[in-house]
Amino acid sequence: MQNDLVTMNDDKMRRDLKGLTPKGIDRFCTEAMGQKPGQGTRVAVRLFRKKVEDFDLMTDLNRPFREQLKRHALISRLMIDQRSASGDGTEKLLYRLDDGNTIEGVLIPGPGGRLTLCVSTQVGCASGCAFCRTGESGLTRNLSAAEIVNQVFAAQKVAASLITNIVLMGTGEPLSNYEAVKTFVQAATDRHGMGFSNRKVTISTCGLAPMIEKMADDTEMDASLAVSLNATTDAVRDQIMPVNKTYPIARLIQALHHYGRKTNKTVTIEYVLFRGVNDSDEDAVRLMELLKGLPCMINVLMFNSFPGAPFERPDEERVYAFRNMLLKHGFVAVVRNSRGKDINAACGQLRAAVT
Ligand code: SF4
Repeated sequence: MQNDLVTMNDDKMRRDLKGLTPKGIDRFCTEAMGQKPGQGTRVAVRLFRKKVEDFDLMTDLNRPFREQLKRHALISRLMIDQRSASGDGTEKLLYRLDDGNTIEGVLIPGPGGRLTLCVSTQVGCASGCAFCRTGESGLTRNLSAAEIVNQVFAAQKVAASLITNIVLMGTGEPLSNYEAVKTFVQAATDRHGMGFSNRKVTISTCGLAPMIEKMADDTEMDASLAVSLNATTDAVRDQIMPVNKTYPIARLIQALHHYGRKTNKTVTIEYVLFRGVNDSDEDAVRLMELLKGLPCMINVLMFNSFPGAPFERPDEERVYAFRNMLLKHGFVAVVRNSRGKDINAACGQLRAAVT
């Protein structure tokens, strides 16, 4: 069973605390164990903040409470099956789930001690973006909130330093798995949770317009937003990103304005350049027209080609010419180089956005 509150263990009907928010843990301890409000919050802090994954090691809780926790709750874990390091410092992680499926994550070091973890939200993906290998095999299933949380725990154990940023840009479309992602965001950003700033947790979507509006209206879903745009006409975007046939560019931009108005936040626009497809001066002009009045910053990304890819990478001169046109007209635009090319980092076009 997977929902926004709990992951159940069918055998023992114990609740996986990693599938709950800190508030959810407190509520659970009150309702299921008769504890006073606030006792469960202490458990949440030990778990999420101190990363204590064994009730017996939560020694500042009294023994009867620890015994109760062992009877009613569990703390799941996620195994890392493989690690592959790239020459540019990124490291790809392959996690094995309980049902045998695997998902990927990437640790991406940045300047100033930054370490970004790219997190997956689904096994496979239904969105079918033409530039993404993940989309080729379709969607297998959503991840539970605990499976998303556990990626952070598992990655932190092998990371060389503290993970400072999280991007939901791995396998899957986060907004298609809204409730689990919301629970994860709350566990990550709550002061009794992992303690990340909301600005340091970024949800990246291929452009599910109604879900962007839902996120904007949801005061309990407070994270940064990145949108993969990648084209300036519906004809081209239909080819690159099938989601555009359901939510065309104008509908997407409308949703982004709603998001900007409701949250007062700046949206990150991801624009991957494909040679001869979406990288012309005319595209740059249309892009500026589309984004006029929207509080945003633009990441201009170079396509990271793979064998059999239907697109080619533009040369750097074109990339910078494109970026410079945006800058000249007052847009905030940055060229990002893809990382992890030599380890075939999954869904890697977007991951460049975080370095
Ligand atoms: S780019 Fe992201 S949304 Fe598109 S198919 Fe790949 S995983 Fe899915």
